[in-house]
Amino acid sequence: LFVESPLAAGARIALDRAQANYLLNVLRLGTGDAVLIFNGRDGEWRAEIAVEGRKAADLVCVERTREQAVRPELIYAFAPLKHARLDYMVQKAVEMGAGVLQPVLTRRTQSTRVNLERMRGNAIEAAEQCGILTIPEVRDEENLDKFIKALGDDVLLVFCDEDSPVSNPVEALKAQVPAGNNAAKLAVVIGPEGGFTDQERALVATHKRCVRVSLGPRILRADTAAVAALAVVQSVLGD
Ligand code: SAM
Repeated sequence: LFVESPLAAGARIALDRAQANYLLNVLRLGTGDAVLIFNGRDGEWRAEIAVEGRKAADLVCVERTREQAVRPELIYAFAPLKHARLDYMVQKAVEMGAGVLQPVLTRRTQSTRVNLERMRGNAIEAAEQCGILTIPEVRDEENLDKFIKALGDDVLLVFCDEDSPVSNPVEALKAQVPAGNNAAKLAVVIGPEGGFTDQERALVATHKRCVRVSLGPRILRADTAAVAALAVVQSVLGD
């Protein structure tokens, strides 16, 4: 369960109504029952429920069960899709290890108004579900050119392009990812349903460390490409 408060032995955390309802009425837990909680900074803790009434409960931190691991920085840059598919894509990106979700506006992007609060809620839910201890950062949408220009030279840009020659993406990436992967900084870029324009392809290729990968001979939908691309990155990072 994600909580905002600092976590330390003995710390007492008041749950909000939705969280109390979930634990007391959905999971039907009660005083003394254990819950695993995280806040994105202090690792994972075992906490015990202290019921304060039918609709209220506190949690008391007992012991840390997992350290806050250092993870490679993985930015997932994508052209926003329409609602349900965007929800799905955000959820899959988090499950597949993305730490930063960066909506990028391209010439053929379908929907530009991105509901960041909705994205943040989906990202937290996905982090709780898949047991990662960091909360993905959801950034404001950015034009593709500004995003590419602002990327540090230390970030390896993984440019997913269906027009790139079909080759083994894992091998292409392995040659570029530094040893001691936890220090790796990568950004995966996925285009809109209508694909990148040639100008955008040329722009992306200007980034100092850019590897252009094919995800196979078929044209994938953007949300499918997200999972495929991040699976390739995870198989190299082993994160
Ligand atoms: N340009 C095509 C079109 O107009 O239908 C396809 C765009 S595809 C639906 C959306 C994005 O997914 C692409 O911009 C690319 O980033 C990624 N993608 C899809 N298939 C891919 C493949 N076989 N290899 C690499 N990337 C792919």
